[in-house]
Amino acid sequence: MKLLKISLLLTFSLAIAVCQSQTIQKEQQSILAGLTGKTGINNHKPLHDRYSIENRNIARDFLGNQIKGLGLKLKEHSYKIDILRKGVTKNYEGKNIYTIIPSTTESNEYVIIGAHFDSVKDCPGANDNATGCALVYGVAKQIAALKTRTKNVMVVYFDQEEHGLVGSQAFTEFIKEKKMNVHSVHTVDQMGWDMDNDRNIEIEIPTPYLKTVYQKQAKKLGIKALVTPEAGSDHRAFRTEGFNAVGITEEYRNKDTTPHYHRVTDTYETVNFEYLSFSTNLVFNVIEELITK
Ligand SMILES: [Zn+2]
Repeated sequence: MKLLKISLLLTFSLAIAVCQSQTIQKEQQSILAGLTGKTGINNHKPLHDRYSIENRNIARDFLGNQIKGLGLKLKEHSYKIDILRKGVTKNYEGKNIYTIIPSTTESNEYVIIGAHFDSVKDCPGANDNATGCALVYGVAKQIAALKTRTKNVMVVYFDQEEHGLVGSQAFTEFIKEKKMNVHSVHTVDQMGWDMDNDRNIEIEIPTPYLKTVYQKQAKKLGIKALVTPEAGSDHRAFRTEGFNAVGITEEYRNKDTTPHYHRVTDTYETVNFEYLSFSTNLVFNVIEELITK
């Protein structure tokens, strides 16, 4: 009888898990649809890209509403920053948004997870990086539902990555000023292409500890988290300032990556939602491990 009860309970919780993951996948599809202009957002005409100030405002508000829909408090980080590149200083203005999912036990430590929401000009930016935004949403939803969190989790959407990691660099300065105790930073960029169906992901320049955790959780799901030296995304801004950072992506260096990169053809229809959903669970499992012990 007891065995029957246990197996019924297991089947029941498995069914709930599958059901929740299907719900998240549907929500990720609607996030992708809004961000890529497959559908309109509120009374705006469908987004052509997420490049101009106006279009970035619409995309940011849309993502902010998704966060608020999880019952989380949305915060804004407006910035003006001078960035010196190739001997020329340029001034940038933009706005990141974030939320904090508080620990359930006393803690001043933060795990940060984020993705950039902008795109290059004239590009719907489905793979790059509506997929990263949707992944971060799916992870945030599951983290917020946990009964126990021993660390705080900060969820961020970065502006102006495509201008040269501008939003993430401004955010790095913001958290340094706040003197926050940051455990680790995880940034997601391009997570919707898996032509060879192996479901592998790449982890970019992880610390030895983060590498261990990602590879252990990947192994549990029967896939590989391959380490690469790729530095061309938001994680670099954090690493440069001494934070433990890692980038997460599809097999970008291993050449199982979208052929539509920065093109007008980077559309909703090219996204592999099963892979996005699978990767969302993997990243959630990693963050869960980091914040439940
Ligand atoms: Zn990107």
